[in-house]
Amino acid sequence: MSELRELYQSVILDHHRHPRNQGVPEGANRKASGVNPLCGDKVTVHLAVADDVVRAAGFEGSGCAISTASASLMTQAIQGRSLAEVERLFKRFRELVTSKAGAEAERDGLGKLAVFGGVREFPVRVKCATLAWHAMRSALRAAGETVSTE
Ligand code: ZN
Repeated sequence: MSELRELYQSVILDHHRHPRNQGVPEGANRKASGVNPLCGDKVTVHLAVADDVVRAAGFEGSGCAISTASASLMTQAIQGRSLAEVERLFKRFRELVTSKAGAEAERDGLGKLAVFGGVREFPVRVKCATLAWHAMRSALRAAGETVSTE
């Protein structure tokens, strides 16, 4: 179990130190920002959406290791997925980090996102882990508003 935890932490640290998909992707046509005042995390998610598919995703922002790694892994996870699949993924991810049912979700196609399962033991960190996801959903709704975890 501790080996697994170390592996999970190393994935998060890797994505914190070397975030994937930073910046604005080509063809970006949706964006939204999110703030987590409790921790000081800020993120803006950029999406290139066409034919109800997320063709590309990127992000800008600054924050703690959890929020940066979450944005990085999220942009990887949603690229090439239909909007319906992205919505399902969001719900599964939220369940993973907020409920005990998350243990089930880990085996249910979350892939690398499962590294955030440990976050549910730290309620304050849940907001860090879900910030980019809330911004992403806001962008998809074309609301373009800044979402806050508070
Ligand atoms: Zn944070």
